Amino acid sequence: MKIICIGAGASGLFYALWAARFGHDVLLLESNEKAGKKMYITGKGRCNVTNDSSVKEHIQNVVRNPKFLYSAFSKWNAEDTIAFFNDRGCPLKTERGNRVFPVSDKASDVINCLWSECKKAGVRIQYRERVQSAAKENGRFVVKTMHGGYESDLLVIATGGKSYPQTGSTGDGYSFAKAFGHQIVYPVASLCPILIQEKPSRDMLDLTLKNVSLTAENASFKKSLFGDLEFLPNAVSGPIALTMSSLINRVGKVALSLDFKPALDEEKLNNRILREVAGAPNKDIRFLLSTMLPMAMLDFFFAKVNFDQGQALNSLTKEQRKILVASLKRFPLTFLGLDSIEKGIVTSGGVLVDEVNAKSMESKLVPGLYFIGEVLDVDAFTGGFNMQIAFSTAYAAASALNGF
Ligand SMILES: Cc1cc2nc3c(=O)[nH]c(=O)nc-3n(C[C@H](O)[C@H](O)[C@H](O)COP(=O)(O)OP(=O)(O)OC[C@H]3O[C@@H](n4cnc5c(N)ncnc54)[C@H](O)[C@@H]3O)c2cc1C
Repeated sequence: MKIICIGAGASGLFYALWAARFGHDVLLLESNEKAGKKMYITGKGRCNVTNDSSVKEHIQNVVRNPKFLYSAFSKWNAEDTIAFFNDRGCPLKTERGNRVFPVSDKASDVINCLWSECKKAGVRIQYRERVQSAAKENGRFVVKTMHGGYESDLLVIATGGKSYPQTGSTGDGYSFAKAFGHQIVYPVASLCPILIQEKPSRDMLDLTLKNVSLTAENASFKKSLFGDLEFLPNAVSGPIALTMSSLINRVGKVALSLDFKPALDEEKLNNRILREVAGAPNKDIRFLLSTMLPMAMLDFFFAKVNFDQGQALNSLTKEQRKILVASLKRFPLTFLGLDSIEKGIVTSGGVLVDEVNAKSMESKLVPGLYFIGEVLDVDAFTGGFNMQIAFSTAYAAASALNGF
């Protein structure tokens, strides 16, 4: 069977090597000058290839359409990914949170491994070949590029999402899918910074707030996440903000608040303040807060919580203590929205999965047409789950060619 796969990213490369191994003639068309351009920047250049956890845990870490991925994850799971790279000269190691990386800490080793397997299997590739349109005519797929046209029996769309477009994923796959009659769930950013009105100071930009809790809520939604938070000049970022962005990208406006002391309930925090006051009655309120917040946060805190910072602790009233406790437990941040889709680590939205066969990734509307990877309306939290989605959906599509 002659197959064209549009896109030589994580899913396209993985699909191509398996489809070619299964005896098919595969041509990859890639708009960039090299394969896997996005993969080079994954995991901060180290590529978190998968998460060493069960299919159930992978499903739990998928934000959109987890059930759709069950079959693909069952056919090709994290264990398979780990064995694949270990057996092919790219040994892997597991780090905190079961995140799996190459031992070399080089994303390029993952890409080289995939590409070398493609070459061994006889995959052909055309670089700098941006597909402009795709159609089915007289039972064959016809693909047009700047330089001419190609024909195939099967067509695989592995063009990725819309985030980080400089890596080649510019959302072209959505227009190809639409031309074939598929519906697209409106793409928005996922795993991106959350924009806030407050302006963090320069010192705060170097800070990681450890073990805090971020809450987002509105009339129909409430979620609190515990972990580390970072600040950007106009946004909150870091693990819990990124995860939160995936959960709120379709819930509209939310109120955001920070709990600086999630391990202490209000009573315990009040008692802690009382102890601090008793231990240093002649110190002032700024000193008190410096025992509970990083120094770099103090001005930011007091810009919102209106106190005479020089007030002596021995004159702190019960009412003032109450305000301090409430401010430390529910420090408000003004939500302005999510950062642009270009800044998302992944795209939420894409090809409507109801119109795709979950076992084979084949279109239910156009026989012989397949969608794999991030172009589909699936996305997951950080931790290697998104790369696993690319590999699992690619393998599901390739293995379906041979009826398994
Ligand atoms: C900064 C960053 C860090 C990340 N880190 C991780 C991580 O550590 N672990 C993890 O699991 N996930 C991570 N991800 C997410 C992960 O990279 C993606 O989910 C994954 O690459 C998706 O694979 P894909 O094959 O679907 O799309 P892509 O990898 O985006 O590949 C799509 C390919 O299609 C090509 N293409 C697009 N349109 C056309 C066209 N018209 N003609 C020809 N070619 C075309 C593109 O050039 C590109 O090469 C990260 C993402 C980013 C942005």
